[in-house]
Amino acid sequence: MTDCLFCKIVAKEIPAKVVYETERTLAFGDLNPQAPTHVLVIPKGHYQDAAALAAADDGLADEVLKTAHAVAVQEGVADSGYRLVFNTGPQAGQTVFHVHGHVLGGRDLQWPPG
Ligand code: AMP
Ligand code: ZN
Repeated sequence: MTDCLFCKIVAKEIPAKVVYETERTLAFGDLNPQAPTHVLVIPKGHYQDAAALAAADDGLADEVLKTAHAVAVQEGVADSGYRLVFNTGPQAGQTVFHVHGHVLGGRDLQWPPG
């Protein structure tokens, strides 16, 4: 997708602080972090949201989840606890329409979310 911010990060047309990468996934620091650890995990291919990713039939959703956990381990938040969030659709606060999981950790996180 030519007009997608995260596709441009995959293509290295826009810089990002990449912290983890697999053949089909990429993880990079959020530009506006909401916690000491705030990393976005994406498939390198373009899927607009979690629903589209869930419909992919080649184990890609599984790989995204495994990358998210690997990021949490690498960033040192897996033992204390972390939150994995997929804002899906405008009402849920999705603003970038290339599916991404937020890996949040490093502080106490409140529930319910806003
Ligand atoms: P969402 O609101 O769930 O769609 O999340 C989009 C996230 O992308 C926000 O947390 C933004 O801070 C983050 N973001 C926007 N532009 C960039 C960028 N160029 N690099 C890294 N993160 C970004
Ligand atoms: Zn994209």
